[in-house]
Amino acid sequence: MDSAEFRRHGHELIDWIAGYLDDPGEYPVLAQVSPGEVRNRLPGEPPQQGESMADILADFHDVIMPGVTHWNHPRFFAYFPANNSGPSVLGELLSAGLGVNAMLWQTCPAATELEEVVMDWLRQLLGLPSSFKGVIQDTASTATLCALVCARERTTGGGVNRRGFAAGVDGGPLRIYASGECHSSIEKGARIAGFGSENLVRVGTSADFALDPDDLERLVEADVAAGMRPCAVVATVGTTSSTALDPLPAVAGIARRHGLWLHVDAALAGSAAILPEKQSIIAGAEEADSFVFNPHKWLFTNFDCSAFFTRRPDELESAMSIDPEYLKTDRDPEVTNFRDWGIQLGRRFRALKLWFVLRRYGAEGLREMLRSHIEMAGEFAEWVRRSDDFEMMAPAPLNTVCFRCTAGGGGEADLDRFNKTLLDAVNATGLIYITHTRLDGKYALRLSVGQIGTRRRHVEEAWKCLRETAARLAAA
Ligand code: PLP
Repeated sequence: MDSAEFRRHGHELIDWIAGYLDDPGEYPVLAQVSPGEVRNRLPGEPPQQGESMADILADFHDVIMPGVTHWNHPRFFAYFPANNSGPSVLGELLSAGLGVNAMLWQTCPAATELEEVVMDWLRQLLGLPSSFKGVIQDTASTATLCALVCARERTTGGGVNRRGFAAGVDGGPLRIYASGECHSSIEKGARIAGFGSENLVRVGTSADFALDPDDLERLVEADVAAGMRPCAVVATVGTTSSTALDPLPAVAGIARRHGLWLHVDAALAGSAAILPEKQSIIAGAEEADSFVFNPHKWLFTNFDCSAFFTRRPDELESAMSIDPEYLKTDRDPEVTNFRDWGIQLGRRFRALKLWFVLRRYGAEGLREMLRSHIEMAGEFAEWVRRSDDFEMMAPAPLNTVCFRCTAGGGGEADLDRFNKTLLDAVNATGLIYITHTRLDGKYALRLSVGQIGTRRRHVEEAWKCLRETAARLAAA
């Protein structure tokens, strides 16, 4: 592709993306295709000869677009937001254009130093102490895995990295603690880091689905008495199901007393901590060893961009660093080499898009958008509370509302069935996309507000769609 062709299609694509971002609302939010439908329209064999961009783009529109679920749709209320924004897309485009691998300071000094700067900006916005140093990871799952590896190496004095799990651990099994509401990435991290699922101890929760610190203390003490080795605790700020907020100060106290690595998983909710009125949700995080939140969820930065902070950069580096001759540079003593701050060696220039977002919106612009999401979710929760046919299933401290419809009547099993049918029916309309969870064993619908284009009218449309569909199903 010569530069003239690149330019022509580049302009065309930017125009198309701008139109898409203006109004993804014209598409059904949840892709209305069946499994295999996209694959069956694609050739099974790779092309032998190059094709024209015009043909490739025509197939993008014709074959790929119908199979896209629109995460930036204003009526996307499923899971959690994964929003992007104009500045973020432009930063991503530049990063692709430059195509650098930011594994070492020397392989792109600007990428490393910009990452240090924007992560420190984020730290300040969150109100974390300057002892926290940041690095961008691909996902919260990876950041949590890094934290668990650090915890493991601290508890074993570097033993597992040196001699493996079988020989590297003296005494009983290493234990990790997290509430029963923690994200599945904690268990995945426990598996990959070699702890094993059975050594992830599920701590009980209180009525609001937050970790119960008394139960945590009891479980840690029981493990010590049984000869096990408490190693780490993961506290969640904003659980996936219901955005429950674990009590960080109490958890931090227990971590301190028992020498546990404290990792805070604030994947979604961490963004809200840039609001002065919400900063208290992470009070206590200053005592954590590590902290992660995802700008790629709720800070208008497209996937992937996960902000991982640690007060123990030396421990992170010593757990992660392997220093082959071919990666050494003369600058190593004076610079940061982010290859030693995570799992992967090669790294994308992700700081660019974060820089663009932070500068283009400014802290106040970002706060305004987050506040509007929280306000819209609060209003939706109020409609649920005032309705005779719906009820709240959990507190809604931020942007996510868990609720169910009671119009179908009957016992718990009937309510579960009715709400599952309601979920499928509203999602089949293509008008809105919501998802579900279970709270206290009960089926609950979840509505999460966080898209950049979502306005009050979209939330009203969701409420109308839910009420009308529920009434139709109840009458059937
Ligand atoms: N932690 C929490 C609380 C989450 O809600 C999620 C995603 O839903 C994750 C971790 C995983 O995030 P990622 O996809 O960045 O690994």
